[in-house]
Amino acid sequence: PIQAMKYVWMNGRQVPDEDAKVHVLTHALHYGYGVFEGIRAYDTPRGSAVFRLTDHINRFYESAKILMLDIPYAPSELIEATKRLVEVNGQASCYIRPIAYLGYGEMGLNPLTGSTDVAIANWPWGAYLGDEGLSKGIRAKISSFKRHDPNIIPPAAKTTGGYINSALAKAEAIKAGYDEAIMLSGQGFVSECTGENIFIVKDNVLLTPSDASGALSGITRKTIAQVASDMGIETRYTQLLRTDLYLADEMFITGTAAEVVPVSSVDDRAIGSGEPGKISKELQRRYFQIVTGNEPSYDHWLEYVKD
Ligand code: PMP
Repeated sequence: PIQAMKYVWMNGRQVPDEDAKVHVLTHALHYGYGVFEGIRAYDTPRGSAVFRLTDHINRFYESAKILMLDIPYAPSELIEATKRLVEVNGQASCYIRPIAYLGYGEMGLNPLTGSTDVAIANWPWGAYLGDEGLSKGIRAKISSFKRHDPNIIPPAAKTTGGYINSALAKAEAIKAGYDEAIMLSGQGFVSECTGENIFIVKDNVLLTPSDASGALSGITRKTIAQVASDMGIETRYTQLLRTDLYLADEMFITGTAAEVVPVSSVDDRAIGSGEPGKISKELQRRYFQIVTGNEPSYDHWLEYVKD
């Protein structure tokens, strides 16, 4: 099982892992009222660097704003706390999980009377969808679970409770023998996977579902759109049908945990030849070069733990 490391940052202090506990009457445990982030740090030639840390922390505050959760720290404090945690735990390459949630205090649904607890944990985490997934691609299936829409647990916020839906979709896909689930919006358009955004390549253009389909505004998605643009490849944020996926030239999914993973089939229809496509492989290659500090022109995305 994944374990947090030696220290966890909790409400302003680094506490030993065994003391990083919550009360059973923590509001968020009952009602899922919290927000979180998923961030990765990578080992680079200049030491550990957190990839797009400021962008992730900004999205954390945006999620909190949507839920009217008051985070009693400045973004700069959480950025600094994250770097110090990575440093003290001594794992240059790791996954980082900030979380803000309604804590132990008032029960009842009204979220306005509670106080917000904030924690940051990190741990070493390998390829989220497996090394074979990264190299050969994954098999995906359209889920019977729909992605919630902007008026049902707003998908623009990374809410803890919202992931019940993703977990249901994930379990369904795994039980059916697939690696990952693709969720459609209530209107029937392609939205995203359980923790990843979706891209297809069609006629040398990248197409990805717009946020109106319930997709999270992924930071890896933005990264890939920029890198593609620098390669002269356009990205269009649009509406996609499931059959657009079946008929794509290439397909891949993106996320901080998953990174850039080719999709070899959707609902048992091979994507292209069924092998990872040329553009997908090149974007994946560049992504790993960038996050590991081997692509100087993107150095502004790396936030070094030791400046
Ligand atoms: N969609 C969902 C539902 C996610 O949980 C994630 C992971 N945060 C993503 C997309 C990808 O976002 P990012 O690239 O910012 O990690």
